[in-house]
Parts: sequence; structure tokens; C-alpha cells
Amino acid sequence: MRETAASAPIPYRLRVSARATRMRIVIHRDGVEVVVPARTSPAAAERFVASSRDWIERMLAKLPPPEPPEAPDPFADLPLFAHASPPRTPVRIDAVALQGMGRAVPVKYVQAPMLRGQATMIEPASRPNTLVIYCADPAAPPRRAVRTLLREWVREQAKAFFPDYIHALADELGIRRPREIRIGFQRTVWGSRSVSGRISLSATLLFLPPHLLRHVAVHELCHTLHMNHGSRFHEALARHDPLAERHSIELKKAESFVPSWIRET
Ligand SMILES: [Zn+2]
Repeated sequence: MRETAASAPIPYRLRVSARATRMRIVIHRDGVEVVVPARTSPAAAERFVASSRDWIERMLAKLPPPEPPEAPDPFADLPLFAHASPPRTPVRIDAVALQGMGRAVPVKYVQAPMLRGQATMIEPASRPNTLVIYCADPAAPPRRAVRTLLREWVREQAKAFFPDYIHALADELGIRRPREIRIGFQRTVWGSRSVSGRISLSATLLFLPPHLLRHVAVHELCHTLHMNHGSRFHEALARHDPLAERHSIELKKAESFVPSWIRET
């Protein structure tokens, strides 16, 4: 089936699998995934998707409708606002969405009159996947204190997430695992690799879409093979990330995925 000029290309994410022997398409609730063997060219993947268009559209049409959004959480068992006052700017941080690891966590504010100018944070066992911040005035939480708490939480998430992620990816690509993985809040780079075999990653990568996070990880892993940005490095990168060129262009604008409060001082 030929793609007509009128039909928009089907968006999909590409996954390179060392084990795959042929291309295949997987329909997920959140979109289309194309699994390709290593060394598949992006053009071949594009052609494969275009030629499978009818099938993909039939499968997408069969998906169950998206689940309705959860009802607003009244949070009835904790004291909320003691008095209603209009929110001041800067506005509160009401959620932390780490799309790179598929986790979005609402942030709730609870009054604790003693904590003037300060804040403490818990992840209540009774409410998994919620961050609760105690502060004197939930309508106007102390931004600096809140930001410090959330930033440290993001760092912890990154520390818990990246070792397994990088090791699994290295195994998948058949590249030696790094000797050490360091997580920081680098201002100018998403990731880097030292000659000693240490990969440093910015915790802010967790805010990026998974395909860009993977692109950065593949880039740093490819430095295990070539410690430069020469043509052989780019060949390896393109083998493991067939859309590497497109992804590196996207990455240049990816700072927009990172909430500004992470960078505030
Ligand atoms: Zn590099």
C-alpha cells in the first residue's frame, strides 16, 4: 500500500533490538513501537511503517478508549487549607512529571504552622505516588525550600533509575557496561563519559521523552567504543540509534522539557 500525499505519517517510536531478526510493529496504548534489528536504516523503518499503514490504523482503531482521568483527590484525611487566599506568583509546583521514566507525581501542600519559611516533604505510605509538602502557608509555599526538596527527590529518582537502565541498554547493544555511573545537575551537558569509563548523566534527563533519554544514553555508551566524535563513532551511534541525527536535533531544544524550577538558585 502506497502512502498518499494526503495522509500524515504515522508517529512511532523506534526500538533497536539486538535479538530481533526482522522488523516488527507493536501497538501499545500510548502509541506505535517499531522494533528493528541492529543496523536497520531509518529509511527502511520508515518504509516498513508506511507499508503497514492499513494494518496499524486498524489496530489503533481497535484499542480500548483511554481511561477517564482520576477524580480529583479531596485528600480528606489531612488538613488542607486553613484559610483560602488567592495564590501569589510564583505559582506552586503542583506536579513533577518524569516522562523519561514514565512517572508523574502530584505534589500536595499541607499546612504546618510551625514551619514558617521552611518546608519538609514526605512520600506517605498511605498515598503512594504522592509527594506531600508541609509548610506554614499551603497557598504560598516557600519556593526556595520546596524547590530544594523536589530537586533532591529528582536526584534520588535518577540515582535509583539510571544504573539498571544503562546496564540493560549496554547489554542490549552488546557494549561493555560503564565502570561507574554518576548523577548530577550539570548545566551545560546531558551526559558525558570519562576515559576511566565513568558515565555522568544529568538527573534532568528524566524530564525528557524516553526516546531522547535513550539517545543520550546510547551516545555515551558509544563512547565506550570510540572516545571521540569521529566518523566511526557516528557509525556506531547510527547503528544503535538509527534516528540519531533527528534525535540530536530534537535534543538541542529539549531543555524546554525541563521545568524552570530545577535550574533556579
Ligand atoms: Zn559525545
